[in-house]
Amino acid sequence: MDFSLSKEQQEIVAAARRFAAGEFPDRALEFDRGETFDLNLWRKACDLGFVGVFIDKRYGGLGYGFLEHCLINEEFWAVEPGIGAAILSTTFGAELIQMFGSEEQKRAHLPPLAQGEAIIGTAITEPDAGSDVTMAAATAEKRGGQWVINGSKMFATNGTLAQFMNVFCLTDPENPSRHKRHSFILVPTASPGYSAVKIRGKLGIRASDTAELIFRDLRVPAENLVGAAGEGFSQLMAFFNHTRLHVCAQAVGLARAALEEALRHVKGRVQFGQPLAAFQATQFKLAEMATRIRASRNLYYEAAWGADRGRLDHGLVAMAKWFSGKTAVYCADEALQMHGGYGYIDEYKVQRLYRDAKILEIYEGTKEVEKTIVARSLLR
Ligand SMILES: Cc1cc2nc3c(=O)[nH]c(=O)nc-3n(C[C@H](O)[C@H](O)[C@H](O)COP(=O)(O)OP(=O)(O)OC[C@H]3O[C@@H](n4cnc5c(N)ncnc54)[C@H](O)[C@@H]3O)c2cc1C
Repeated sequence: MDFSLSKEQQEIVAAARRFAAGEFPDRALEFDRGETFDLNLWRKACDLGFVGVFIDKRYGGLGYGFLEHCLINEEFWAVEPGIGAAILSTTFGAELIQMFGSEEQKRAHLPPLAQGEAIIGTAITEPDAGSDVTMAAATAEKRGGQWVINGSKMFATNGTLAQFMNVFCLTDPENPSRHKRHSFILVPTASPGYSAVKIRGKLGIRASDTAELIFRDLRVPAENLVGAAGEGFSQLMAFFNHTRLHVCAQAVGLARAALEEALRHVKGRVQFGQPLAAFQATQFKLAEMATRIRASRNLYYEAAWGADRGRLDHGLVAMAKWFSGKTAVYCADEALQMHGGYGYIDEYKVQRLYRDAKILEIYEGTKEVEKTIVARSLLR
């Protein structure tokens, strides 16, 4: 298999890198400390065509594949993970609409997402339903021509910013198959009965909005159902194949940033009469970081390359996801270690990288869940 990037893909990488390097570094500390984000930066990224690139051309996007979206993620995260997360998660759920939505839903919702006029989120996790999504208990009851939604969601990305949320609802609690009980329903966040409370105090990606959602007798028209009733679980598994690949790219970007910070520091910092780079203990760390980054990238390139050719390999995506998350956490840890006490201070980027990295082993399926998927595909 040839994973070399086409000329167009190389141009996408260069443009994403240029934009991120020009816009992110000066604002990263402010957004991180303040747990805020400037939406003008998101709009600028949309204007330049970096957001929602996977959205079909018919709906205002660029119609790019998995790999191109991953490449932009990698470059943004290689400059500043928190800002990369805030900008590129604004279409988190557009994939679901594109794959399973009705023609009316696609026409109504995809163009504003691609053009920086709307933000979406996808709310699955609940206080009692995390890794086991089949325990999701927020209900949607069909009454007349409407769905009436009650319940709550945890950790919804864009919860206080989004205009629309894909909400994973229990629609058929008596169904004998726990994989047929849920459906996605598209919820306008301006609906009476929707409330979102921002979650503060996150360890990392603090520029990205995370919220707890509460639904009280929230009513939406029956046609807001995404796809067929009872298909929510299988739609979610298909959605995860997209988003997990994005996370792999985020992880490789972050790990690269950690290596860059480490290299810069160990070349300049002198102890015992030599730069830290001269010590073999330092060199071994650098070698291990670079090797793991390369291996992680090759894994996700292979998975994305196959997916773009209609050969999506669920087990390979899971393998790439847990391994790249581990790579990011490992590289950030080693990079901070090489900075000594300076790395412990938030004015040093490496501290942010260390904090931002951990989410990569948690969201879109924890590393344990991913390994379970890999093992299942081996044992099948
Ligand atoms: C910043 C952030 C953003 C997020 N964004 C979103 C979002 O937009 N939408 C959304 O729906 N969710 C979102 N999440 C939630 C995230 O997907 C969940 O936190 C994650 O799926 C884990 O669920 P949990 O936190 O309930 O942990 P749990 O499922 O309770 O897991 C706790 C630990 O137990 C382990 N564990 C669980 N089951 C098993 C098992 N069978 N075998 C071995 N180990 C197991 C897990 O791996 C984990 O280490 C976000 C979370 C964060 C922190």
